[in-house]
Amino acid sequence: MAKIQAIRGMNDILPDQTPVWQYVETTVRKVLAQYGYQEIRMPIVEQTELFKRSIGEVTDIVEKEMYTFDDRNGDSLTLRPEGTAGCVRAAEEHGLLFNQTRRLWYTGPMFRHERPQKGRYRQFHQIGVECFGMAGPDIDAELLMLTSRLWAELGLSGHARLEINSIGTSESRKVYREALVSYLEQYRDQLDEDSKRRLTTNPLRILDSKVQQTRSILEHAPSLSDYLDEESRCHFEQLKALLDSAGVAYTVNPALVRGLDYYGKTVFEWVTESLGAQGTICAGGRYDGLVEQLGGKPTLAVGFAMGLERLILLLETLNLIPDEVNNRADIYVTAMGDKSISTAMSIANTLRNDLPGRVVITHCGGGSFKSQMKKADRSGARYAVILGENEIEHGTAGLKPLRDDQPQQEVAQADLARILAEHV
Ligand code: ATP
Ligand code: MG
Repeated sequence: MAKIQAIRGMNDILPDQTPVWQYVETTVRKVLAQYGYQEIRMPIVEQTELFKRSIGEVTDIVEKEMYTFDDRNGDSLTLRPEGTAGCVRAAEEHGLLFNQTRRLWYTGPMFRHERPQKGRYRQFHQIGVECFGMAGPDIDAELLMLTSRLWAELGLSGHARLEINSIGTSESRKVYREALVSYLEQYRDQLDEDSKRRLTTNPLRILDSKVQQTRSILEHAPSLSDYLDEESRCHFEQLKALLDSAGVAYTVNPALVRGLDYYGKTVFEWVTESLGAQGTICAGGRYDGLVEQLGGKPTLAVGFAMGLERLILLLETLNLIPDEVNNRADIYVTAMGDKSISTAMSIANTLRNDLPGRVVITHCGGGSFKSQMKKADRSGARYAVILGENEIEHGTAGLKPLRDDQPQQEVAQADLARILAEHV
């Protein structure tokens, strides 16, 4: 029978990869905790309407990337393509936003039906951060400083470039939209099909186009920055000043608009040159209108999401995974003959008590001395503890170094932890 395979673009993360994931996740958790951010966990499935209303009907995600299905009650549900909408829904539903500020984060899989390629998958993972009730630009700056600290922790400083922009309020974007449309109308025939259609549905999204010909037409298009309202301009100037004094380097990219409808004022992306076309590892911005748009009280908000696959790919490409990030064993306890098994298990347990943080594997499944030693070696352990009938009888254990040519010693079982503590 043909074997069933994983769904295209949805990856298994295998045992030799998970230590790297854990390392990145732990580092991010640590930095977020340092800044006082609280974790929130939302369901992976939400009502389709939530994403349509928040992300926007005329966006790549809603138009062609969502995994949407009718459940057995006939309700239209969608596997979340991003976390902001669900986070706002949850925070609002449970009164977390009532007259208070919040700093929240979450992590988990997201789903988008895109063309799978390096750094772009159909199930991928994000760590998302959302802050509520703060007008900025202080909180905008904090988010960027926090990410900058994270890059430093991961050894990535200098490998990711920060691009920022202000896309103003929806009123100022409305005026700009008209200017953009009348400029682009002159080149209508030369635009790609998507952009042509968006000329009437959502012209700002054309700025995001990746089609070369459209990009070159855009080079001389009116710039959003010339249409900014006073408040947004002032907000942006203050943000830049805060970043300057914090020593966070950035470039202003006037073409940066972000692909989702809910953004306004500050938008930003951390981009790397080391991953080819899929170079954005973290992206976000302010979305002051979204909570209200989803039926809540007007609530100021800003957030970002980073793509874990891309972050990990980048760390691997740059050889930045520390050596100690692995799932090697430290000690492998063998058991020759039925009588030695219970002793092996109890010795292993004592070692786990006395040497916390060390990985102690007990051999299970029997087998010859030779095959057990082969497994001990393959586990990556530095020491094998050898227990045969002779050792059991005398209350001793063989202690064999596996990574150098030192001879095996015979030691009292009671001394094992003390001796190993000096060596592993
Ligand atoms: P892109 O322009 O690369 O499509 P995006 O603007 O659609 O990105 P966001 O929705 O802002 O991306 O998501 C934030 C981050 O999540 C991205 O910067 C990226 O690191 C990651 N990401 C987005 N889509 C994917 C995907 N299909 N596979 C892997 N990572 C992704
Ligand atoms: Mg995308």
